[in-house]
Amino acid sequence: MNETLLMIPGPTRVAPRVLKAMSENIVNHRSAIFGKLLTDITQIMSEVFKTNNKSYLITGSGTAAMEAAMVNIIQPGDKILNVVSGKFGERFMQIVDSFGAESKVLDVEWGEAVNPDDIKQILDEDENIKAVTVVHNETSTGVSNPIKEIGKLMQNYDALYVVDTVSSLGGDEVDVDGFGIDICVTGSQKCLAAPPGMAAITLSDDAWKIVDQNDSLSYYLDLKKYRKGGKAEPPETPYTPAIPLIYAMHEALNVIIEEGLNQRIKRHQLAAKATRNAIKALNLELFPREEVSSTTVTAINIPEGVTDAELRGTMRNKYHVELAGGQDHLKGNVFRIGHMGNITHRELITTISGLEMTLRELGFEIEMGEGVASVADVYLPQNL
Ligand SMILES: *Cc1c(COP(=O)(O)O)cnc(C)c1O
Repeated sequence: MNETLLMIPGPTRVAPRVLKAMSENIVNHRSAIFGKLLTDITQIMSEVFKTNNKSYLITGSGTAAMEAAMVNIIQPGDKILNVVSGKFGERFMQIVDSFGAESKVLDVEWGEAVNPDDIKQILDEDENIKAVTVVHNETSTGVSNPIKEIGKLMQNYDALYVVDTVSSLGGDEVDVDGFGIDICVTGSQKCLAAPPGMAAITLSDDAWKIVDQNDSLSYYLDLKKYRKGGKAEPPETPYTPAIPLIYAMHEALNVIIEEGLNQRIKRHQLAAKATRNAIKALNLELFPREEVSSTTVTAINIPEGVTDAELRGTMRNKYHVELAGGQDHLKGNVFRIGHMGNITHRELITTISGLEMTLRELGFEIEMGEGVASVADVYLPQNL
């Protein structure tokens, strides 16, 4: 593997067996052998989404699935409620804007989670809202939004419930049918721990009804074609997919099933707890309120007296650990530790110990080993 340890919120570390799967021979994507593979993958995808509905793979990054979710349900002039609590919530809003629909924004302070009551209030006041978009795990701020609670209230409204689980599916609780999600999207390179370049989407019957009433605003992302391909014999994608990435997705999903989804989520919860405890032990400050903080990425305020470049630069160049910076107005103010995908205590101990050395080197009076000890503590059998 590459020497640099990726501790960023995507792309994440890819297991050697997944990388190896990509080197399989290229096959005809309109063949029985490919059809079987596609059927397998989309079935496992639905299992991971926890839905009885079909899932579809899109060649493209997570944003392609976000765009697919929007362009198939909106027409110019439609009104969509976009919950914006960070960069990715904003992206849904920009997609809606760019296709001529009207975005009503529910602005949430960055670092906070949305209050479901605020969504309810807007839906009560405006019955023309066609869909509500929520980002489950707002990767830019390290906050988890309460998609289960929002799902509960959405049952009383006709508006479709669209959820971005790009940085949570496979790492945090997502239950598409149980939470009443109409359209759910994800990407390959975050908690699923496959290489970047694939996205997945699933739609409820209610969502398909709206899709069927609309002409898609996109040619490539017209989901009716994906549905038609899925029903063909053998099943196929509408256009040539990135076949090596399909192999990788298949193997990455096999890894998830072997580990067990619940076990995997638990592993992510432990990693989040260990990271937060270490950060507190080192007298650093979490950016979001701890109660709303993410299970897959931790955002941390950059302490006074050090720059982002010094902190992450030292981590990268000296300790070979790649951390993420802040986005937009958080640039230079926060750094982020991704603990999604194939992360265990081993990677966390390396990361936190590198962080301790970095902080000491940069002049902070921290007690060496305290961060590492609080990581180790979380994983001791008697504490599990
Ligand atoms: C990474 C991410 C995306 C998609 O980004 P791509 O770069 O297009 O894969 C969307 N939403 C969230 C919450 C993400 O973390």
